[in-house]
Order: sequence, then C-alpha cells, then structure tokens
Amino acid sequence: MAKRDYYEILGVEKNASAAEIKKAYRKMAIKYHPDKNPDDSEAEAKFKEAAEAYEVLSDADKKARYDQFGHQAFEGAGGFGGGGMNMDDIFSQFGDIFGGAFGGGGGFSGFGGGFGGGQRRVKGSNLRIRVALTLEEVAKGVEKKIKVKRKVQAPGTTYKTCATCNGQGQVTRVTNTILGRMQTASTCPTCGGAGQSIDKKPADADAQGLKVQEETVSVKIPAGVVDSMQLKVTGKGNEAPGNGISGDLLVVIEEKEHESLKREGDNLHYDLYVSLPDAVLGTSKEIDTVTGKVRIKVEAGVQSGKILRLRGKGIPSINGYGSGDLLVHVNVWTPKTLNKQQKEFFENMKNDEHFQPKPESTDKSFFEKVKDMFS
Ligand SMILES: [Zn+2]
Repeated sequence: MAKRDYYEILGVEKNASAAEIKKAYRKMAIKYHPDKNPDDSEAEAKFKEAAEAYEVLSDADKKARYDQFGHQAFEGAGGFGGGGMNMDDIFSQFGDIFGGAFGGGGGFSGFGGGFGGGQRRVKGSNLRIRVALTLEEVAKGVEKKIKVKRKVQAPGTTYKTCATCNGQGQVTRVTNTILGRMQTASTCPTCGGAGQSIDKKPADADAQGLKVQEETVSVKIPAGVVDSMQLKVTGKGNEAPGNGISGDLLVVIEEKEHESLKREGDNLHYDLYVSLPDAVLGTSKEIDTVTGKVRIKVEAGVQSGKILRLRGKGIPSINGYGSGDLLVHVNVWTPKTLNKQQKEFFENMKNDEHFQPKPESTDKSFFEKVKDMFS
C-alpha cells in the first residue's frame, strides 16, 4: 500500500512552520487517541500514522531528507523498519507535545501523561547521541562505550500513592443534569494520571525526583551499519519517576570518511594509479581494504578504466546476507612533462602500428561496465 504524504496526514501545507506542525499533530493525537477510541483499529492506525508523520516533520534533519527524497529517505536502514512506530515511542513524544512531561513542575505535584483516562506507566524521554565510526569499524562491527548524561531517580526520593485518586489515575464525578445523574471520568488533576506522586525528595533532585547522572553505556554496533542509522538501546534514556519505565537511548551512526576507500551501499571503490611502464609491463600493487592491505596483480597491458572486482571485500550486509565487493578502478598515470630522451622515446612510438588503439570486444566501454555492475 502506498504511504500517504506526511504533510497530507497532518493536514498542513509544505511550508508550514514548526509551531503549525506541532499544533496540527496535537489535534490529531487528541482526536485519535486510543483512550478516546477504544477497540477502534482505524483510529489506532490514524494515531500511529500521525505520530510517524510528526516524528519526521518535527525533526529538522529528517524533514529535510523527507522533503528531498520522500518516503524513500526512511526505507530500509534507519527507517521505521516497516513496522511503524510502537506505542511507547509515541507516548514518549508527548512530553514535547503536551507541554512538559510529568507536569513539568508547573505548580502541580504529580506527574503523568497528562491526558486521557486510566493509569498509565509513564515513560522517561528518549536520549539521542551521535557516534562516529571508521569504515573499518563499520565493516567489523564494534562495541562502543558511550558516556551518557541521563536522568535517574535521585537516591532518597520516595513516591506515594496519589491520595486524590487512590492510585487509579482518574477521578469520577457525578453530576445531576436535566437528563439525570451523569458519571464522568477524567484524569486525576493531582497526579496527572500516574497514580503516584512524590513523597520525599533530596534537595538536588528536580520536581520529578530525578537528577542527571553520567553513565557509560556499552553499545554493540553490528557490522554493516549505515550513516544516520539509529540504533535503540532500550531503557537507557531518561528514567521516569515512580514506577514508570525508562526511555530509550537512540544511537545515531555517523560514518567517518576513509582516506582511500569510498563506500556505495555495501560495495567499496578504490582508485588505483599505475604508471605507464607498469601498465605496459604488468605489476603487483598493494591496496587498502577494510581488513588491511592486500597485494593484487595488475596484468600487462591493463587499460585505464578497468575495474578489478575483489569479491566479498566490501562491507557485510546489515541483514546478514553476505558482503559487498571491493571495486578497484585502474587509472593509468600519464606524465604531464617529459625530458628530451623520454620525448624522443615516445616520438619513436608515435607512428608505430603496434601502439595504435585497437579496442577488443572484451574491452567494454566505461558505460557498459557501469551497466554490468548494476545488473
Ligand atoms: Zn491521582
């Protein structure tokens, strides 16, 4: 099924401001929220669709990529993995959307998702950190120790069951109307739906009883990751107050440029320069690979533009299906200046029939070779 345009989903113009996008999403999130539409799978799908659209359009980087490439920008690696966002991710966004997660210390003592009914385990916000990898690390996979500043429950903080709602997260009110007695349930105004509030907290804790702590998190990065891909370390984001669940740590991959190898998908390209005599006589050359240097044979009579393919010497596929190849592009180096003897030497060859170009059918043109590589 074709995916709908993110702007269309949120009902905003392409040039909408960040505030307009946020406002539009807020409206959709309230309208299609599962608490308001129980057992309505269509509403749930709309809710998720809007969350995904907002996730992209609210992030300057992702928005720019989406504007340029459309949905393709997030397909495969680093995208939504085809499965869309999960509910935890969506609810963790709400801190931004509904103004200060957990009540933000703005005068009310509790914390919670802030809307909807019923008790919900609040989730701490996600943290995002960039990690730069060399091509060698990408090829092998690597375990990185990353320093992260995350909010954790400050020692000494205690939580108590919310007295207003008895830990239910919502309060019911009975009102007499001309239609009779009406019972309405609404989110507990004291705890914001979490069912808990702070009992005691140390002086260095914030309004939710949390404090920032630096931790070293070990992240296993699999071979074959791609620049700007995001890896999720579950539970290593900010902790939530009370019995809430921790947010996640999102590790954004950055690939450092290699001095001689260029990556294209899982394939690598290497420019090999050979001298005119080496091209004529044949030689062997040491070249870089992601697993160290290897020596390759260059046949006598090699043509400039020839591509030598080293099978499996590229980057392993992130999906685990084999590896790409290393494509060595042969460039014959022609000197720009010659001394007198050298010049005479080449003058003598100039009209020699043996030196006239005679492309054979096996010497394909550059464009044919490129076509072969992608077929
Ligand atoms: Zn309460």
